[in-house]
Amino acid sequence: MSMDQPTSRQAAARVVGLLADYLEFYRTQPFGRVEISERTSGLLDGLFAPTAEDLTAIRAELGDCQRCALAEGRTNLVFGEGSATADLVLVGEGPGFEEDVQGRPFVGRAGELLTKIIAAMTLDRSRVYIANIVKCRPPGNRDPRPDEIATCLPFLMRQLMAIVPRAVITLGNVPTRTLLRTETGITRLRGHWHRLALPDGRTVDVMPTFHPAFLLRNAAKKKEVWHDVQLVMDRIGLKS
Ligand code: SF4
Repeated sequence: MSMDQPTSRQAAARVVGLLADYLEFYRTQPFGRVEISERTSGLLDGLFAPTAEDLTAIRAELGDCQRCALAEGRTNLVFGEGSATADLVLVGEGPGFEEDVQGRPFVGRAGELLTKIIAAMTLDRSRVYIANIVKCRPPGNRDPRPDEIATCLPFLMRQLMAIVPRAVITLGNVPTRTLLRTETGITRLRGHWHRLALPDGRTVDVMPTFHPAFLLRNAAKKKEVWHDVQLVMDRIGLKS
């Protein structure tokens, strides 16, 4: 198969994406409703059934990734971790020092605070999925560059398509601006729902909030984060 030819899964994803747009159009029209039989609904769901194998395949494809300059300075590639069927995915900007050493996302001081926030949501890290926009540590903890983000982002999008979460929390400016394709800052975007279109045609609700590292320096902002996560709890059916 040539590199330009879509795989059968990609082709199916496009068909389902078009079908979803078509049904959404009719659903919003005043002249009637579109009913989908349980069998059809099940078939559509089955096309994208979230499985651990999907994430495993994505990780395998990354391998010892050298696709961008961030590969040079990393100790470990930080793929992401958690439940392959999580209702909630939390996305940061990239690994820091501790994450690079351990190969796991959010394990430093900011990670400890994130773990507490997840616990306050009546969840734990094994029930959510945690990942970053880029999977290798930018030197000196600088922001990842646009070309690095562009190279790495397709893998995160594939992770989201494999997991099919009900909501994504973006932590801070970089993941929020990247996933929502905006230059607007986190202060204006947080506390409101936004929508991310995935390449397979599905959409996922996105709630931006402050990064835990920012909270460590600005404890007064925890109130806003608690407000944001309560909205998320409500959206994914958790009691606050
Ligand atoms: S940041 Fe992403 S694209 Fe760049 S080397 Fe790491 S895994 Fe590969």
